Amino acid sequence: MAQILTGSEVVKALDEEIISEVELLNKRGVTPTLAIIRVGERADDVAYERGAISRAEKLGVAVRSIVLPEDTTTGLLTQTVESLNSDSQIHGVLLFRPLPKHIDEGMLRSVLAPKKDVDGITDLSLCGVFTGLPTAFAPCTAEACMEILKHAALELRGKKAVVVGRSLVVGKPVAMLLLAQHATVTIAHSQTVNLPALVREADLVIACAGQARLIDGSCVSPGQVIIDVGINVAKDGSLVGDVAFEEVEPLVAAITPVPGGVGAVTNSVLVKHVVTAAFRLTSQ
Ligand code: NDP
Repeated sequence: MAQILTGSEVVKALDEEIISEVELLNKRGVTPTLAIIRVGERADDVAYERGAISRAEKLGVAVRSIVLPEDTTTGLLTQTVESLNSDSQIHGVLLFRPLPKHIDEGMLRSVLAPKKDVDGITDLSLCGVFTGLPTAFAPCTAEACMEILKHAALELRGKKAVVVGRSLVVGKPVAMLLLAQHATVTIAHSQTVNLPALVREADLVIACAGQARLIDGSCVSPGQVIIDVGINVAKDGSLVGDVAFEEVEPLVAAITPVPGGVGAVTNSVLVKHVVTAAFRLTSQ
């Protein structure tokens, strides 16, 4: 039986930290505030927004929600981001992606002020994650994986980690965060040859490919720690990860569930980033 690394315990610890920091900010007359920009009505975005607002408000962080129509232009979106950059009441900005295809996402990534880039989407934030700049915000999901590992007090130094996925949202940044903790990191992707053999040799596996049940019993070995980032919708409408949980769990040392694992921690990391940004922006 594996240790189940549930997100709820990590969330509890992070929330305690956030609440005491929000109290300090309130004493200074500051209400940490997140702006969420959503373009269109994608069901995933609407659901995530609802979860983020409820978590933020529960912790004393205000949210300003900005919804733009699906046919909005790059120009209008850029203006919206620029006005939030210069709005002293806003400390963090979350821009839902993917954006509609006609929007120049690269442009948006360069417009958002890195100090307010609480989900680590700008090139400057990502550069900072790669160079080890302590003030750079990492993408929340990548950091959520690290928070789970930290909470479980798992030693990463010298461990072999395989990250399955190389997106800028999860795979690449989490690989850099693991490297910073002295793990030896391999990044696998859709062109990797013999993925099961590669994954079997790891001490730690971060599954972030967006492929239901990609990591099954044939990919794992005893003693491994498995972090499942994947969120996939099964035929019956339920949420499943990238890991075939019922096959893998009896074989490994520790594993995160889906749902209730990484996804649960991601919102708390987002709120933590807003609070950190509020401290920095109001201390200048
Ligand atoms: P992307 O689609 O952007 O990236 C997927 C990555 O996985 C790519 O690098 C791709 O390789 C690789 N990949 C795809 N198929 C395979 C395969 N068969 N074998 C090995 N590698 C493969 O997805 P994201 O990074 O945005 O998200 C990944 C997953 O994480 C999704 O399920 C998403 O829903 C979930 N997610 C969860 C969050 C949370 O809070 N828990 C937040 C964000 C995402 P290549 O580059 O070669 O195409």
